[in-house]
Amino acid sequence: MHAVAATTSVPGPTVFPPGTRVAVLLPLPLAGAYDYVVPEETVLTAGDFVQVPLGPRQMVGVVWGRGQGDVAAEKLRAVAQRLDVAPLPPASRAFIDWVANYTLAAPGAVLRLALSVPDAIVPDGPRTGFVLAEMSPQKLTAARQRVRAVMADGAIRAAADIARFAEVSSGVVRGMADSGLLLEKPLFRTPPPHQPLVPKAVALSPAQATAAAELRARVQESAFSVSVLDGVTGSGKTEVYLEAVTAALQQGRQALVLVPEISLTAQWLDRFRARFGADPAEWHSELSQAKRRETWRAVAQGRAQVVVGARSALFLPYANLGVVIVDEEHDSSYKQEEGVIYNARDMAVALGHIAHLPIVLVSATPSLETVVNVEQGRYRLLHLPERHADAQMPAIAAVDMRKAPPARGRWLSPVVIDAITQTLAEKSQVMLFLNRRGYAPLTLCRTCGHRLQCPNCQAWLVEHRYTGRLECHHCGHSIPMPRACPSCHTEDSLAACGPGVERIAEEVAQLFPDARAAVMASDTIRGPADATAMVRAVTEHKVDILIGTQIVAKGHHFPLLTLVAVVDADLGLGGGDLRASERTYQLLSQVAGRAGRAERPGHVLLQTYMPEHPVMEALLADDRAGFLQRESEERRAGTWPPFGRLVALIVSGPNAQRAEGYARDLARTAPHEEGVRVLGPAPAPLALLRGRHRFRLLLRAQRAVNVQAVMRAWLKRSTCPNGVRLQVDVDPYSFF
Ligand code: ADP
Ligand code: ZN
Repeated sequence: MHAVAATTSVPGPTVFPPGTRVAVLLPLPLAGAYDYVVPEETVLTAGDFVQVPLGPRQMVGVVWGRGQGDVAAEKLRAVAQRLDVAPLPPASRAFIDWVANYTLAAPGAVLRLALSVPDAIVPDGPRTGFVLAEMSPQKLTAARQRVRAVMADGAIRAAADIARFAEVSSGVVRGMADSGLLLEKPLFRTPPPHQPLVPKAVALSPAQATAAAELRARVQESAFSVSVLDGVTGSGKTEVYLEAVTAALQQGRQALVLVPEISLTAQWLDRFRARFGADPAEWHSELSQAKRRETWRAVAQGRAQVVVGARSALFLPYANLGVVIVDEEHDSSYKQEEGVIYNARDMAVALGHIAHLPIVLVSATPSLETVVNVEQGRYRLLHLPERHADAQMPAIAAVDMRKAPPARGRWLSPVVIDAITQTLAEKSQVMLFLNRRGYAPLTLCRTCGHRLQCPNCQAWLVEHRYTGRLECHHCGHSIPMPRACPSCHTEDSLAACGPGVERIAEEVAQLFPDARAAVMASDTIRGPADATAMVRAVTEHKVDILIGTQIVAKGHHFPLLTLVAVVDADLGLGGGDLRASERTYQLLSQVAGRAGRAERPGHVLLQTYMPEHPVMEALLADDRAGFLQRESEERRAGTWPPFGRLVALIVSGPNAQRAEGYARDLARTAPHEEGVRVLGPAPAPLALLRGRHRFRLLLRAQRAVNVQAVMRAWLKRSTCPNGVRLQVDVDPYSFF
């Protein structure tokens, strides 16, 4: 991320008497602010929430400033009413403008992130929900069966929540209500009583205490700063940053902790509760509508003292924020890839700048962006070099798959099998890591060679044996596993190629029939409750061998886990991704960091066909500095981030010619400024996605270039035709 002048001041007067023109920003992806007239007997201020007419309906928007005046006065409509809630604070408005400017998104689209629960602002009316009726006819559609499954617990739920949890349209819910399968009931919503957080003191090691004191000082000075808490896995980074949270609470201010994937936070929440005596407010996509509404209000009113959440929690209307912590700051799930395309880590730093806040970036493997910012003196480094309480860092070894190959049709090397045997004999736990869901990534016909592909995407269908289906991991397209080849119709000739976690579980069951094995992947874990149950089972040693995708890699603390084996350490290194090496290094360090976190020492085995690859060598030698140095030199030489800037343009549409035509128009009108180069268009590596043909261009610029200005001028030189979509991705992380 790079600094761009913040548009911190909304120009003109901020009080608008009756009859004046105001600009009202609506939470709509395509809109700038619209002008309205302030009605009789109303005085509006910038930031006020208002209801305004838009076409035939009423919408909630925010007074953004003085009207722009390009609509004739007699055509202007009046603001319907001012809503009786606290206005959106100036810092929140400036932040929205800044994000819109930086990401080249419409300000209304960014406002929508902040107003994610528009009805939180409208006063409560009487509301109704539904319960399941007693009768249950045998023949229900698949959608209705899902509703029945969701409602089987007897809870009263709002129609919107039923639709969301059962993944059905609102029409399905209405239909079931109309035919008496769902019964209407009043929906009572009493916000839970607010339990104040009471921080407990913890005894910190000298290194931890030094870092914690620094963080407290930053929080107390209430000014912009960025601190990087860089410490090996298990060094107590969480304990230390909770001290910064404590400092904010002691000042009477709120704290935000961003985490990459909320389903991982069960253990985190236990620790938080132990430390503060109550729960923080959570913010993520799994919340019910009612919970969102209550949390949004609690944050706006300052009742929610600590929020832990996914990236969108950054856009909540904090009454009195005192610190933002970004845990696992290097994690690419901070990058939102749809709608407003932004990196929550970078936007947190921008928010810190605008709202004068201390920001804390936390990681055992900081991103190269962050490392360079530390080197250049923009960010302060706090270092925790050792694991807590004498726990040792695990020893990492490579298993050269060329020298110790697995048996035919198997995926685990004899070296790994021996290590598992020994670990189980010691009554310790094993983690097998493979970053691939399902049973096999490719299915092909042994007779005709046909490969089963998604009709909507240029991607293979992945076999999921637990569900007996083939699935596209890009669009969700799914079919039952066919018995015969769809092309040559030969029966029983389809063969699974390559392993996913389910296939590793099968191998484990054959090799270790007495061991208790469990699979943990995003499709076997449905929601936070499942994740909590699984994590508990592992912690309580009800599982001997845990087999999982990246969701097992991060954050967990399993004291009896001593062996981690990575089934395919080379998996992330293919393809031309700018960050392939960096990401693989981070992910494998993270997985390795699960081993030996308590008394028993841990060891890690990396199954690889290229132990001489620089990433493997760095991991084996525990040479992070050397790895970063090399990576840094390569990026600098090519003016790649963080030494240069990138903007990706993705042109897509159902019609390949039209999409390609526009991509060519863009290339023809590309900027020729000094220090700017445009590459492409080229068909995207994923040339067909969800039925859309995709072409990519990439703008690469020197750091000094204001890429937003260059992009704006460029995009004005041509028009995106109907049926074609252009996505602009500033600082891209994904290149498919
Ligand atoms: P990290 O976030 O760096 O991976 P954690 O904060 O999860 O490390 O700490 C690892 C383990 O050590 C946790 O179980 C944590 O509770 C424990 N721990 C770390 N520091 C302390 C401390 N000062 N006092 C007690 N327990 C600690
Ligand atoms: Zn697909």
